[in-house]
Amino acid sequence: VELMTIGAFARAARLSPKALRRYDELGLLPPVAVDGTTGYRFYDPAQLDRARLIAWLRRLDMPLARIQSVVELDPVAAAEAVTAYWAEVVADTAGRGRLAAFLVDYLTGRGSAMTGTGITVGIRYAGHADIGKVRTSNEDTAYAGSRLLAVADGVSGEAGARASAAAVAAFQPLEARAVGAGELVEALGAAVGVAQRALRDIAASTVDGEAVTTFTAMLWSGARFGLVHIGDTRAYRLRDGVLRQLTHDHTWVQSLVDDGRMSLSEAAVHPQRALLARAFTGTGAGEPDISVHDAEAGDRYLLCSDGLTHTVSTESITEVLAGRSPDEAVTRLVERANEAGAPDNIACVVADVVTL
Ligand code: MG
Repeated sequence: VELMTIGAFARAARLSPKALRRYDELGLLPPVAVDGTTGYRFYDPAQLDRARLIAWLRRLDMPLARIQSVVELDPVAAAEAVTAYWAEVVADTAGRGRLAAFLVDYLTGRGSAMTGTGITVGIRYAGHADIGKVRTSNEDTAYAGSRLLAVADGVSGEAGARASAAAVAAFQPLEARAVGAGELVEALGAAVGVAQRALRDIAASTVDGEAVTTFTAMLWSGARFGLVHIGDTRAYRLRDGVLRQLTHDHTWVQSLVDDGRMSLSEAAVHPQRALLARAFTGTGAGEPDISVHDAEAGDRYLLCSDGLTHTVSTESITEVLAGRSPDEAVTRLVERANEAGAPDNIACVVADVVTL
């Protein structure tokens, strides 16, 4: 066997002499001989396999301590170790990708950060209310802010437009302070009272004395949010590719479904499907559902009006929501509804959750 000098060995292994000296210090790849007078190091050509493996693992950015354990394994176990390492890198990169996307939105006013229940989360959000293809006025309201996300669908004309805007406005002051995770229900309940009084005032100012709107909103406190809901606007959660409706429609057809007198698919196409069983009205009646939920990093939330859910299928909504920024997702959802004829106004809010 002819021994190789450190220079020749370094060239063959595509490692620098400096790196070889470091690996010697770590016991990762010691030379087989060192000249007693000159201090020159000599390597056995049989060490090239190990040297190449170390070089390749370094190119994967694997830490030296981890390389040390991988090179001691038999090839099959080493293959498993590389697979496990790479899965960690991919997951970490995806997490950093979410953080980078959040930062872009945060720095441009489309994201916020907050702490609650000891966890700091960021949300990225976008919202839009579109007039659609048939209506001549827009009675839907969409709102996406640092802690509050909301949609409202006002009923019939100008009073409806004022009603949906007033309902959202009643909740907006909640953004001015950080509401504790334990105070979400109380804070939302107080805002419900403000909304009901505002609608009573609007109703009193209209000819027919009506001011009606649906309302669905989320108020965030760290990774926890309060959900307030009345009518047939909806909240959905997309988690692990599965879209789940978080709200229960307060409609006449849904009450028939609940009683087992109609199927969900019949309700979805029923001519009277827009008839509301409950809504914010000018009479002060209509108590919304209020619930509290815990979000997870990677969750995506959608709030929308029936102008979306009556025209775009759940499958299509799920597909559009996957892999786009909140801003792009909102734009594309509104486009899909418009492509389907959009007989009604369309309100959409989309928000993503990242842990910071
Ligand atoms: Mg509508």
